[in-house]
Amino acid sequence: MAKDKTPPSTGMPLVIESTAKEIVPPTICLSLADTIAAMRELHRERQDYHNAEKRLTLQIKSIQRRVHARTCKMPKKHSKCEGVYDELPAAALVLSEQQGMINVHRKRPEKELQKLAKTLPVWPWIEAVRGVGALGFAQVVAEAGDLGAYNNPAKLWKRMGIGMYQRNDGIWERQRKAEGENGILAGYSPNRRSIVYVIGECIIKAGDGHYREIYDARKIIEADKPACGRAKCVGEHCIPGHIHNRAKRYMEKRLLRDLWREWRRVTSSSASPLEPPPPSSPEPDVQP
Ligand SMILES: [Zn+2]
Ligand SMILES: [Zn+2]
Repeated sequence: MAKDKTPPSTGMPLVIESTAKEIVPPTICLSLADTIAAMRELHRERQDYHNAEKRLTLQIKSIQRRVHARTCKMPKKHSKCEGVYDELPAAALVLSEQQGMINVHRKRPEKELQKLAKTLPVWPWIEAVRGVGALGFAQVVAEAGDLGAYNNPAKLWKRMGIGMYQRNDGIWERQRKAEGENGILAGYSPNRRSIVYVIGECIIKAGDGHYREIYDARKIIEADKPACGRAKCVGEHCIPGHIHNRAKRYMEKRLLRDLWREWRRVTSSSASPLEPPPPSSPEPDVQP
């Protein structure tokens, strides 16, 4: 396939390869705004590949289930049958090859994103945070843009899907998928939420470090609170899953708040004037 020889262009002028790299590191002359713009573009490109890979995975599995169903005695729903995904029928193999190719292409924007993330003034701070890598950080910047442009951390939380929003009836609630006008007010993007979610996972998996400690400490506080009353939380306290989610979210907010502060500190010229969070915002979770 000819396609596979020429990696698609990002359309960005910054990606100077090979010879130029030896003279001047390709990213050194970029302004903060240009770096962020380039990251945004690379992030979109990466997401396109990533989404295509995910779709192919679903299609491959569906072919595998269909072929398996020909010989299986179970009436339907073969996703849990033993060995259902063991074999790769010819049609699935074609897709799998395409998937492998896309995967190779995805690595390029990923590498460039990481490279650019490491040129940002805030990078030394991020580098010292256990569990946060250049790619995760790059995705936050690509989605949120210049963090210094947010007047307070609550606005950054909202952008990344872990904030609060005011519903059309005036009530503040946690960002989530909502219907109609509230959907617009919530401004919730599962994609952006998942970026921070994955970062939080990595911090917890890292096993130690400042934010892991924050998570552990918060878990104790959350476990002590009365049950929220929703779903399975009808006992005295919430179920472990709820406690975990709340502690994790608290820690993720702390990380974003500290990142925002550090970003403003190191790029003070680009930061906009500070503004306190809205007075009506019931955001007691993370305040200085
Ligand atoms: Zn089956
Ligand atoms: Zn609960």
